[in-house]
Amino acid sequence: MPRTVVTGGAGFIGSHLCEHFVAQGHEVICIDNLLTGSRDNVAHLEGDERFRFRLHDVTTYIDVPGPVDNVLHFASPASPADFERLPIQIMKVGAHGTHNALGLAKAKKARFLLASTSEVYGDPEVNPQPESYLGRVNCIGIRGVYDEAKRFAEALTMAYRRVHGVETRIVRIFNTYGPRMQLDDGRALPNFITQALTGEPLTVYGDGSQTRSFGFVSDLVDGIDRLLRSDVWEPVNIGNPEEITLLQAAREVLELTGSRSELVFRPLPPGDPKVRRPDITRARDLLGWTPTVARRVGYQRTIDDFRARLEAKGLLRS
Ligand code: UDP
Repeated sequence: MPRTVVTGGAGFIGSHLCEHFVAQGHEVICIDNLLTGSRDNVAHLEGDERFRFRLHDVTTYIDVPGPVDNVLHFASPASPADFERLPIQIMKVGAHGTHNALGLAKAKKARFLLASTSEVYGDPEVNPQPESYLGRVNCIGIRGVYDEAKRFAEALTMAYRRVHGVETRIVRIFNTYGPRMQLDDGRALPNFITQALTGEPLTVYGDGSQTRSFGFVSDLVDGIDRLLRSDVWEPVNIGNPEEITLLQAAREVLELTGSRSELVFRPLPPGDPKVRRPDITRARDLLGWTPTVARRVGYQRTIDDFRARLEAKGLLRS
């Protein structure tokens, strides 16, 4: 039975990875300090003997007794709301956390997979963004903490590959959504869905003409699984190339929830990228991966999950 460590395993994406690899027959060690993750996200796995939860902050030494085959490093706050709330924690987990996770992989001769991000491209001048694009990041901007932490993490991953021969993989994750995102996560889709279901106005930042490409979490997990099993060490974009404006995203959420909430316009946060869309040629050619979940289907599954959780908290507007 392969043993797989998932840092940030109680987070949104991490919990879906834990679930996936437990189902694949791995023993999964989920490490999380619950800063932005939640034990609720993995509660359904806790009875399984192949699953273990460890409350630990990966910015300090990671001690895992016994063999380890894979280290998936997914620990980090990742919502732009966190860039202002948790900037130092973001830089520490991207730097010290990545160093410790790489050290674990090196000591155990395990395969290492880094969760990187489309944010390494910053506010891009080219659209869509291929992996060869070197990016346009403002290191002193509000987003700089996350962008630079992930750029540093990619550089450190390559250094461990070159110096220590660690088998490394780097996934650049584009906007991803799905069940288990925090209700108050602060990102566009969780905000819109929570607002629509609770009868609050949907907060569109700027004039809503900025674009994003939203991918469903199960497609991302499939891409990560393929990347882990491949021999591709170069960074690979994983995301859905269907690009929409934020105004369109808000309208689609209103339609699918049947909500009568209004749209309100709020100031665009500084440094907010104007466009974002993955070039997925590399994922398609090297991993045979393409997204399969249509946006409406993904939205519906996410809305159902949000509705159930809001209802359980007594926050649903009937
Ligand atoms: N956004 C919005 N309303 C919200 C939250 C976000 O219009 O309530 C916008 C945000 O300004 C950005 C886009 O939606 O242009 C996506 O933001 P998100 O926080 O999801 O992540 P990002 O892609 O910016 O990292």
